[in-house]
Amino acid sequence: MEELRELYQQVILDHNKNPKNFHEMDSPTHTAEGYNPLCGDRLMMFLRVEDNIIKDISFMGSGCAISKASASVMTAMLKGKSISEAERLFKIFQEMITSDPDREPDVDSLGKLTVFAGVREFPLRIKCAGLAWHTLSAAIGEGNGVVSTE
Ligand code: ZN
Repeated sequence: MEELRELYQQVILDHNKNPKNFHEMDSPTHTAEGYNPLCGDRLMMFLRVEDNIIKDISFMGSGCAISKASASVMTAMLKGKSISEAERLFKIFQEMITSDPDREPDVDSLGKLTVFAGVREFPLRIKCAGLAWHTLSAAIGEGNGVVSTE
């Protein structure tokens, strides 16, 4: 398990250093802003949705490695997916980061999101990992808005 943890940490550090889809979008159909006051993470999420498909997704902002890596992994996963698939993954992710840290994460359904299973041991970090998803949910739920993890 120790080796696995180091591998996950490496993935998070890599995404933090070279985040995917880290740019502003010209004409998004949906945007939302997310803020995690406990850590100071701020994210702006941009989406272009057509026929319920996420054609493009990107983010901007500043924050800790976990919040940025989570947004990077999330946007890479969701590009080209339907809104309902995004909502399903959000639920799976949410259940994973709030589950018992001693329980093995379900790698089959989580895929790349498994790298964030380690945050379960650090309650403050759960908000960092979840910020991108909450911001996404606000963007596709209400169209525009500001969301805070508090
Ligand atoms: Zn953070």
